Amino acid sequence: MSQLDRRNVLKIAGVATVAALTSCTDAKKASAGAALSRSSSLTAATPNWNSFARSLKGRLYLRASSGYAGSHLLFNPRWDTILPTAVVKAANATDVQRSILFARANKLVLVPKSGGHSYVGASTISNGMQLDVGAIRGMSYSNGVLTVGSGARLYDVHAFLDKYGRSLPTGTCPTVGIAGLTLGGGMGIHTRAFGLTCDRVLSMGVITADGKPHNVSATVEPDLFWALRGGGGGNLGVVTSFRIATIPATKLGFFRLSWPESKAAAVVRGWQRFAQSAPITSWGNLHIDAVSNGTLSVHVLGVSTTGNASAAAAQLESFVGSRATSRSITVKTHLEAVKYLGGGTTTPRTRFRAGSDVLKGPMNAATITALLGAVKAAARAKTPASAILDPLGGQAAKQPAGGASWPWRTALGVVQWYSAADNLSGQTFVTNGHRAVRAYSAGGYVNYVENGRSVSTYYGASLTRLQALKKKYDPTNFFHTPYTLA
Ligand SMILES: Cc1cc2nc3c(=O)[nH]c(=O)nc-3n(C[C@H](O)[C@H](O)[C@H](O)COP(=O)(O)OP(=O)(O)OC[C@H]3O[C@@H](n4cnc5c(N)ncnc54)[C@H](O)[C@@H]3O)c2cc1C
Repeated sequence: MSQLDRRNVLKIAGVATVAALTSCTDAKKASAGAALSRSSSLTAATPNWNSFARSLKGRLYLRASSGYAGSHLLFNPRWDTILPTAVVKAANATDVQRSILFARANKLVLVPKSGGHSYVGASTISNGMQLDVGAIRGMSYSNGVLTVGSGARLYDVHAFLDKYGRSLPTGTCPTVGIAGLTLGGGMGIHTRAFGLTCDRVLSMGVITADGKPHNVSATVEPDLFWALRGGGGGNLGVVTSFRIATIPATKLGFFRLSWPESKAAAVVRGWQRFAQSAPITSWGNLHIDAVSNGTLSVHVLGVSTTGNASAAAAQLESFVGSRATSRSITVKTHLEAVKYLGGGTTTPRTRFRAGSDVLKGPMNAATITALLGAVKAAARAKTPASAILDPLGGQAAKQPAGGASWPWRTALGVVQWYSAADNLSGQTFVTNGHRAVRAYSAGGYVNYVENGRSVSTYYGASLTRLQALKKKYDPTNFFHTPYTLA
């Protein structure tokens, strides 16, 4: 979804965003030793943190370390109260390997963190080790292929590739990590024209639960490669690098069309036709937003990769059956488009609740009414809420060479239920949204993972094979949270 639009939701809600992450430059490796002597909870039988800290090129923070307070935070402040026993800021793949072996030897649960945007806080853990790969973010480019460390953030990836006239199909939030996004799929404006982010991965460096490094591809350990392409982060190993086939960084045509609430059902129907039959160079996500005066705001933000957004907008209007009451058409360069969609080059930390349903096919009239009713109920309750519908189809409907476990190739699109109200009213909206489209839901998008939902619902027909590969590559279930495969 467009962060721009998320911010609008936040503005409507009057929600203030929270300060940026605290810098973590002040904690030296020696601080682990200081922490050891200060912490009353540690005993003689505790892990040997000092020797572990010395073995790392990166940093180790324990709870009493200077710098710990800012070291473990995620994008959503909701998870700030989760306090890992240890935070490792890995500097390289060797640090990742050592952390896995140390955590195993000391029976600590370990969770990897890249950009920290997990909806459920899956990249932090109480009383365990958070392994942050954020500093492993080097990039190089050669012959159409990007090699990128697993801690790179999306804006940095785009800014780097722009220098070579290249791009990648990714999501839109500038601070999302390449690892979390790619391992769960990766949807955005180029999904229909070029497929998901995971579809373009050529190989990955990954360290499995036994501490062994692998370099997997369509020909080397193809089963692990398949599983990592859509199976979701945190399940099968810690990825340290990706090689990804890039796409040309072309000018993009944008359209933004709005209709009054009275046309909302027609717009949903028109958007469904658009998702089914527009050229794969056209993409548009539909936003149905609750407005605090109890009404609905309805608009589609669209992109044409040919640059001709007017034709794409006109086609959508013909499917809706009425001209938009507000329209804007613009053309942007690659990096202008990245900044526009991302609301800039960075994103402030933000509270929210969200969930998703993958739509099997076009919804019937009753389901569309129910969907609109769920947003309307939120509007009446003054709960900031949006249903955001992203189309699939085009290249996303095709299995990439080498195969991918991302399971939703035949789906129409994904509806995200998003609320800036991080409380019961936000959760009520998400629950009502699920109920509204139940008859058309194939499951959920793993990158929009949510609390209280069975993990199996994210994997469709890939579930059984993924479970078998989880047993093969992680037989002791070392990578283990409520959101991992079992
Ligand atoms: C504001 C916002 C906008 C978004 N927009 C989009 C969008 O446009 N399109 C889209 O498809 N998604 C989008 N997402 C969802 C996003 O793709 C997922 O939340 C993704 O998992 C975040 O990745 P991360 O690395 O930032 O998060 P993290 O929290 O660091 O990681 C997410 C998961 O991956 C695991 N993980 C992290 N690093 C590794 C690693 N190196 N190896 C193995 N596992 C790892 C973590 O343990 C966790 O389970 C958005 C999310 C937010 C909050």
